[in-house]
Amino acid sequence: MASQRARDLGRLRREEYDVLVVGGGATGTGTALEAASRGLRTALVERHDFSSGTSSRSTKLVHGGVRYLEQAVKHADRSQFQLVREALRERAVLLENAPHLARALPLLTPIYGALELPYYFTGLKLYDMLAGRANLKPSRLINRDHAMERFPMLRHEGLRGAVEYHDGQFDDARMNVTLALTAAREGAVVLNYVEVTGLVKEGGRVMGAVVQGGLEGDGGPVEVRARVVVNATGPFVDELRRRDDPATPEILETSSGVHIVLPARFSPPNTGLLIPKTEDGRVLFLLPWLGHTLVGTTDHPAPVQEDPRPSEEEVAYILRHVRKYFDLPVERSDVLSSWSGLRPLVRPEALALVRDEVATHPGAAHSAGGAPNATARLSRDHTILVSPTGLVTITGGKWTTYRRMAEDTVEVAVHHAGLTPAKGSVTAHLKLVGAEGFQDDGGARLAGEFGLPADVAVHLSRSYGDRAETVARLAATGLSERLAPEHPYLEAEVVYARDYEYAHTADDVLERRTRLGFLDTRAALEARARVEALLQG
Ligand code: FAD
Repeated sequence: MASQRARDLGRLRREEYDVLVVGGGATGTGTALEAASRGLRTALVERHDFSSGTSSRSTKLVHGGVRYLEQAVKHADRSQFQLVREALRERAVLLENAPHLARALPLLTPIYGALELPYYFTGLKLYDMLAGRANLKPSRLINRDHAMERFPMLRHEGLRGAVEYHDGQFDDARMNVTLALTAAREGAVVLNYVEVTGLVKEGGRVMGAVVQGGLEGDGGPVEVRARVVVNATGPFVDELRRRDDPATPEILETSSGVHIVLPARFSPPNTGLLIPKTEDGRVLFLLPWLGHTLVGTTDHPAPVQEDPRPSEEEVAYILRHVRKYFDLPVERSDVLSSWSGLRPLVRPEALALVRDEVATHPGAAHSAGGAPNATARLSRDHTILVSPTGLVTITGGKWTTYRRMAEDTVEVAVHHAGLTPAKGSVTAHLKLVGAEGFQDDGGARLAGEFGLPADVAVHLSRSYGDRAETVARLAATGLSERLAPEHPYLEAEVVYARDYEYAHTADDVLERRTRLGFLDTRAALEARARVEALLQG
């Protein structure tokens, strides 16, 4: 019997599509789900793995953007308020549709100056107000003792109190593969390790793309026919736009954001911390995440590249700030892993050059003209362009708003290609794979039924939702060993990822189906040979 991949490649060869999405990050998989769930014939191709780009390297917050709210207030900018409000609405949608992968997280903003207190309290109350019915919990002031109790690692000298507010937190890479799986459930063909190498044009219009599979046995290039091609390639949108028109100006400016991971003892298990302004004006988060502590981020202008790596300087910058804001002796040797991601931000000046192509640009952007971290002040708003040949490009935005971005993109694609979807958008109320029968009992039922250790049961339940039982059953067939002694990941997950979640390489499993590679580089290295053997088995 042909493998799932061979069948999917066969479909790409034979079928004609309404929508072909290029890029399998948050934006592309979200767009494929939006299109397929509206009854459009949809295909998606990703040249590496789903979320191998920016979408696995985020801060993992589902948020309206406290920092963008500050920009909105400072510039009295209505469109920025609008963006925050919209993101807060999407925050609620994401938490509702993927409750196994995302949940509310309390965050503290420590207050050291008397004037900061009314400033941050009013700001966060405004954040609540903008969320309206979608608010997670009211923000409140807490006194110094309470703040120290909640976050004992905080620097206590000069501390006056803290403002507590709530945002969402999620597992970005698992969310990404879940979107791909849900798009497939809705009828889309989704393939990773398939690259678009050229566009097919007829009568001056883009009518498909030439794609090439990158795995052994994939065969030669395939011409995929589609009425509209959506360029959702994140930091690489200019590359595909140039394949369409070599003379088109570059529209992106990318900035790199670095995070480090520290052991669990650097944060309490269920409270995060936001330093709204470091000495050089950046925002710094210290968050509990998957039993560890996530700290970041930096924001530096950086060139577009595959797999960007953090520099020692960037890691040192974060450690310096951890020492400054927390009463924590922290050493370079405490860093379990670090990673870097590229933000695809649209340059307003460049946008002016392609004004005729702009399909929607709801928010204004602010350029700080050459300041060292000017990228921090560019808008996170999304932009949709339609080139003269009909190539639809979607970029900018953020993880939290992927669904709204997808809805807007499909709307534009439908309009420009004259498509007739069977129905309007349903994704605001569409449960993602794993969500339907999920109950957050902290893994208790799974632990009881399968005799799993508590940490493993919680992990399986919150990673796979109602599919966790299938993984647990697989584990019971002799695949219940841990991949690394101090982590809850099981051998069964490798086989499950291979058979049900499009995993092909050890990196797919270690970095993105499980998050071992993001949490603990050494443990991932030690587990690699076992993972490779299981993938081949
Ligand atoms: P990507 O994830 O980069 O996906 C693009 C994909 O296209 C890649 O996988 C690439 O391989 C593929 N591709 C490129 N060319 C081709 C081709 N020719 N053929 C096939 N495939 C191709 N947002 C939040 O909401 N919350 C956060 O906490 C948050 N934190 C962030 C922290 C950092 C450091 C950064 C950088 C971003 C953060 N964001 C956050 C924003 C969010 O992560 C991004 O907006 C989002 O992940 C971008 O997704 P994307 O799909 O557009 O790009």
